[in-house]
Amino acid sequence: MSADILTSIPLSSLPRISQGKVRDLFALPDGDKPTLLFVTSDRISAYDVILKNGIPTKGTILTVLSAKWFEVLSQKVPGLKHHFLHLGPPKTPGLVTPEEQTMLRGRSMTVRRLKVFPVEAIVRGYITGSAWAEYQKTQTIHGLPAPAGLDHCARLPEPIYTPSTKAELGDKDINISPEEARKIVGDKYADRIEQLALACYKAGAEYAEERGIIIADTKFEFALDEETDEVYLVDEVLTPDSSRFWSKADYQVGREQDSFDKQVLRNWLTANGLKGKPDVEMPPEVVEKTKGRYSEVFQLLTGTSLEEELSKLD
Ligand code: ATP
Ligand code: MG
Repeated sequence: MSADILTSIPLSSLPRISQGKVRDLFALPDGDKPTLLFVTSDRISAYDVILKNGIPTKGTILTVLSAKWFEVLSQKVPGLKHHFLHLGPPKTPGLVTPEEQTMLRGRSMTVRRLKVFPVEAIVRGYITGSAWAEYQKTQTIHGLPAPAGLDHCARLPEPIYTPSTKAELGDKDINISPEEARKIVGDKYADRIEQLALACYKAGAEYAEERGIIIADTKFEFALDEETDEVYLVDEVLTPDSSRFWSKADYQVGREQDSFDKQVLRNWLTANGLKGKPDVEMPPEVVEKTKGRYSEVFQLLTGTSLEEELSKLD
């Protein structure tokens, strides 16, 4: 495994079509259908700001974990369509250089290029974060009436679909009601997105719980295949970047939970008055602890180590 921490992706053989907070997307030569090389860097963002340094192996953890989830969810959610085709770029000779091939190993996947709906399909099984803040003020969650008497981090009677807007780089996502999301994605697709988001959450949460992890909430993205008019699950899936994972053994209602994600980083930023500030560099102990959290969750969910999974790719 390469020990490099990649905060930028050195790939010039393919046209780069966009760069998000964490991923760079490259166009692949036309085959049957348009495809993309979806490359995950080791960049990390917190409070919508990208940190100066990265987390070693994060890009590979997120990529390999997402690939596993596409496989699991395909089996558990009837009729689910998703964008994942295979790990790495297509094996076309000369497509990328040997150095690029090594760099892309484990951190890239070939996916169908689709038209992403501009909403974040958030599903919550537990009440925490911005939903808890809203509930305490108005007893609503994303504008929806919620059961009375919920405690912090309580399990909701049923998982709920609580979308948000999908902000441009540098902006903040805004929580909206399912009705507002319907206006954005259109009547034709709104129900399908909600139904798939809930089904994927339930299937994923059940799978994770059997492995000692509670998925408190998560964000999915969906896209449209304009040729067939079908809704696809896209982006990363059920990773520590897109989800709040809690340890089932340590879970206790009525208090903040320690989560397996960017919690260490968020706590450090808040404690040092650096929340939301640009160009912040994480100290080595924050990097190491965060890396540890990502690795631990990978191991628990997949039952194997990243090294073992990567060795299968050779
Ligand atoms: P964050 O994940 O923190 O919200 P971001 O939205 O900037 O940040 P990245 O994960 O860095 O996202 O970049 C991935 C981008 O690729 C997103 O804009 C996502 O909507 C888009 N995307 C995901 N899957 C597909 C796909 N199959 N076709 C086209 N675009 C896709
Ligand atoms: Mg993203």
